[in-house]
Amino acid sequence: MEDVDLAVRTAAAAAPGWRRLAAFDRGRALMAIARRMVAELEELTRLECAETGKPAALAEAEIRGAAEYFEFYASLVHLPSGDVLDVRPDLHVYTVREPYGVVGVITPWNLPLNQAARAVAPALAAGNVVVVKPAEVTSGTTVELARIADEEGLPPGVLTVVVGPGATVGTAIVEHPLVRKVAFTGSVPVGQSIGRIAAERILPLTLELGGKSATIVFADADLTRAASEAVRAFTTNAGQVCSSGTRLLVERPIHDEFVALVAAAASAVTVGPMITEKQFETVRHYLTVAEAEGARAVIGGAVGEGRHVPPTVYTGVTNDMTIAREEIFGPVLAVIPFDTEAEAVALANDSDYGLVGGVFTADMSRAFRVAGAIEAGQVYINSWSTQSVQMPFGGHKASGYGREKGIEALNHYSHVKSISVQL
Ligand code: NAD
Repeated sequence: MEDVDLAVRTAAAAAPGWRRLAAFDRGRALMAIARRMVAELEELTRLECAETGKPAALAEAEIRGAAEYFEFYASLVHLPSGDVLDVRPDLHVYTVREPYGVVGVITPWNLPLNQAARAVAPALAAGNVVVVKPAEVTSGTTVELARIADEEGLPPGVLTVVVGPGATVGTAIVEHPLVRKVAFTGSVPVGQSIGRIAAERILPLTLELGGKSATIVFADADLTRAASEAVRAFTTNAGQVCSSGTRLLVERPIHDEFVALVAAAASAVTVGPMITEKQFETVRHYLTVAEAEGARAVIGGAVGEGRHVPPTVYTGVTNDMTIAREEIFGPVLAVIPFDTEAEAVALANDSDYGLVGGVFTADMSRAFRVAGAIEAGQVYINSWSTQSVQMPFGGHKASGYGREKGIEALNHYSHVKSISVQL
């Protein structure tokens, strides 16, 4: 893996210069990248759509979000980088946040440029240099990001993209002795395999993995709004989103009425194609399993032409069925009734995953109670997936560890040194 070795060595050589740069200069460099991404929005959107098949409006929103990562972290370079600690009168003790050095970033295919930017921007802001490996089928916009960074004057080696298969190129990044931190977004099995290498190397990781997130709808909720949000939660990007709401927990008295609302709203949605034949076959497999296990498709339930899967809503689901436990990564919703608040929380938490959760109710005391009880990195009340760069994002359990986004991400791209001075 000579390319990875060359990229990492070049990055390591660039690291001291980038780290020594004045904060204003580092921030201006990130801001220039943000502006240029917005200036090239149309071309980037076109490329992202060509590689993913997603609707242009969605790709455009994701790329605007990618630019916002650079804009946000450009401003955070001015945060204090440590504290002064009151230990003893004869000691001056302070802490300072330091970058790791070379950070490896490995990204999936579902939101290519957005997820690359989500890791690259805070890593650079914290003073690291970065080597990125995008997913094989969607490398284009990440390569464009490197070109933009280069043309905007980022010093050579500070941001490098290496393309290629995960098993070779990805592994080589994780194994490289000069890589001091890896941020991985992708599937649980690959996260585990990276984790095994990291265990040997004592390599810090951020793992952003999958989800099987639950939306809880109580009878007192605004049902029209809840239905349209529940549909958005499982159909956006044809369900190929880690934070999709793929389990819908509905209070029993409104179950039938609410399912009808969801089915009507979902039938009106046109979703894009599955990204690859492989993903299409995966979703087809789960539709077969759902039927074999006795779930009933209220709408959908069979694949369409051209790698399209229509929005599919299953009732008659119990939380132990395969479609309630495994991440499908397609527009497939499993509806499960519940009788009490405690049961709803128990069902939401009875999952190997813990990425996000949603609660819809007019009772705000209950909303806060349930939000506090859900085991997930982020919870939405009376809307689904309010996403913003300011909000830390990450998982519990098999959904991963570490946090991206927000000021919090800077803590995961730097480590703290304590320094004591005898006065
Ligand atoms: P994947 O794990 O197959 O691939 C992700 C990346 O890892 C790709 O770049 C791939 O080339 C690389 N890779 C593959 N094998 C590797 C190995 N052995 N060593 C190092 N790198 C390797 O995932 P995917 O199919 O591209 O994406 C879908 C998954 O990503 C879903 O499970 C989804 O939930 C998850 N995801 C999570 C988040 C999040 O923020 N939590 C966001 C998006 C996607």
